[in-house]
Amino acid sequence: MSQLTSPKVIRDILERHNFRFSKSLGQNFLADKNIIERIIDGAGVTGEDPVLEVGPGIGTLTKELVARAGKVVAVEIDKGLFPILEETLGTPPNLSLIHGDILKLDLRELTEREFGGHEFKVVANLPYYITTPIIMRFLEEGLPFGSITVMIQREVAQRMAAGPGDKEYGSLSVAVQYYTKPRILCKVPASVFIPRPKVDSTVVILERRDRPEVEVCDRELFFRVVRGSFAKRRKTLLNNLTTGELREWDRERMLNILSISGIDPQRRGETLTIEEFARISNNMVTISEKEARYGK
Ligand code: SAM
Repeated sequence: MSQLTSPKVIRDILERHNFRFSKSLGQNFLADKNIIERIIDGAGVTGEDPVLEVGPGIGTLTKELVARAGKVVAVEIDKGLFPILEETLGTPPNLSLIHGDILKLDLRELTEREFGGHEFKVVANLPYYITTPIIMRFLEEGLPFGSITVMIQREVAQRMAAGPGDKEYGSLSVAVQYYTKPRILCKVPASVFIPRPKVDSTVVILERRDRPEVEVCDRELFFRVVRGSFAKRRKTLLNNLTTGELREWDRERMLNILSISGIDPQRRGETLTIEEFARISNNMVTISEKEARYGK
């Protein structure tokens, strides 16, 4: 394991390169070799695997990935880190360092070009200010990843893994669990980062499902129902599903749909399973089609 995990070595490199941390880019560099090993072991990286890393920073995680994976593509937004990465990583044949914004790059084209369409693993210590948009991009764009193993803010990890009845359960839980099976690997204290972040972290593994958890006729409507159901936590399902995003559904129609779906309209959104959200949105599609054919 490289000494790149030593806080002294990290500080020396940053000083020599006159590097200034950017808080707005979520730059908190890992300085703990055990955590790096746990992330890579947890991701199950083998010599065959193509790996995509978001935000290599000064290359601490990248260096170990390059030693253990088949190929590593690392996307970093901060040009100022490239001279450091050249020094810490050199030019190994199985590494592509790419300057760009992970939210803006054409990821389908990039992964097709770099990995030849093979299934890849995402492994990263993510910048916390954009954790959710990054993960949602991989999920919603149907990119061919097998798993996403990432260090994220603890509270976001808990929301991703929460189930009905948990206080953290919300639309993020449903979105993540629709596409993947989330598993919390380990908690990580703020003390292992330079600089120290204000929040604690957790490593989470999102194992892609072969097919979504439930069958839905209209994915967009399904997610509108999910977001609508969680919109106001103290309101009943019926109230949430007839206001805001879903206000075009009047109470009578929604009562009918909930009744066909076998779901009590007085329940709260946070008690519903993914299968129940799917049942509601699928019945909304069926009723809309009937109304279009025969009138209301
Ligand atoms: N992997 C390194 C480590 O573990 O020490 C650094 C992790 S640090 C939490 C997040 C990294 O993501 C930083 O290097 C930051 O510059 C980079 N980053 C922030 N926003 C990004 C974006 N939109 N696209 C690509 N990289 C980004």
